[in-house]
Amino acid sequence: MTNAVQKTARRTHTLGESVIREMNDFADEHKALNLAQGMPDFAAPEVLKEAACAAIRGDVNQYAVTSGAPNLRKVLAKKYRDWYEMDVHPEREITVTCGATEAMACVALGLFDPGDEVIIFEPFYENYGPDALLAEAKPVYLRLDPPTYDLDREALTALITPKTRAIVVNTPNNPTGRVFGREDLQVIADLCIEHDIIAITDEIYEHILYEGEHVLMATLPGMAERTVTVSGMSKTYSVTGWRIGTIVAPPALTAGIQKIHDFVTVGTAAPLQEACAVGIEQLGRDYYTGMIDEYRVRRNIMIEGLRAAGFQCAMPQGAYYVMADFSAISDEDDFTFAKRLILEAGVGTVPGSSFYHSEGGGRSLVRFVFCKREDTLREAGQRLRDFAARG
Ligand code: PLP
Repeated sequence: MTNAVQKTARRTHTLGESVIREMNDFADEHKALNLAQGMPDFAAPEVLKEAACAAIRGDVNQYAVTSGAPNLRKVLAKKYRDWYEMDVHPEREITVTCGATEAMACVALGLFDPGDEVIIFEPFYENYGPDALLAEAKPVYLRLDPPTYDLDREALTALITPKTRAIVVNTPNNPTGRVFGREDLQVIADLCIEHDIIAITDEIYEHILYEGEHVLMATLPGMAERTVTVSGMSKTYSVTGWRIGTIVAPPALTAGIQKIHDFVTVGTAAPLQEACAVGIEQLGRDYYTGMIDEYRVRRNIMIEGLRAAGFQCAMPQGAYYVMADFSAISDEDDFTFAKRLILEAGVGTVPGSSFYHSEGGGRSLVRFVFCKREDTLREAGQRLRDFAARG
């Protein structure tokens, strides 16, 4: 008999467990090299660490302003101007959140009404669908296919209905490494303007880009007033545990988003916000180019190891993930194969189908992360080659 006291809310029943965390735990349990979850195994920049210690020693211990520490919002506005020629009002258009994760949830809860439709590209970062569901909106999926994951204008247009409220774009992309260029973004922008839709962009990998330029949807003509730009510090400064995310949105949308943020968290860690402000202000362009150079080396080691082991994969253009096709090695499904990789090769990955909603998507793919030290990636490549050679 079910105990009425033990029942959970209906909205939780639509949410599955995070496959990434599950595979992460399984990999750790079996002491595998963990290339499942996107967290670096190297240090954050010294300037951020020093600034965090200084803020704590300086007694920055109390609640920050809910929408974000004024210092941080000020340097963020300057950064958007300097890097992207984008005018952002620090008080009316910026919200600092507990990571891009809280940011995306606040955007969904602040801007979607029940029944609204939200277009999400597959393969996707796993939070977008659940965020829409939490807001009782309906995720509508558009599948982009490997190896190039190109956006088809006709297919996107066909999904738009009078209920479409938003299109979610993640560039550079997790899990594919695809970068949406100006032309792709213009296709989406044109449809947003024509059908009065908002664009929600997840730009958490904005600085991890191996070729081309990072184009902000919000800077395309007519898009500033209908774009919500989500980003954060986790990836740029290798501080995934600090939980500092950002939202830039026009004042009317920001007002709704901030109401949710205020009730859910009040705000994120005050001393760490101060430290991020110092980091953004003090780290010059050489930090960012140096970081990209290091990631490019890691990417090349990863790709070389995967290809030598028999995986097929496209070269990521940005971010630090690679979707690898294992059909030349095994005809198992992705979950069986990923579990066997942990147990027999000692390498943790995420099954490809967890990035798809549609039937059969990602069945012969697994995702590797390469935000790891070079020796970790070399060792992973060797283990994969040995595993594939054993058959
Ligand atoms: N968005 C994407 C595309 C991600 O890959 C991740 C983390 O892996 C996040 C958001 C979460 O970022 P945060 O650590 O700022 O919550």
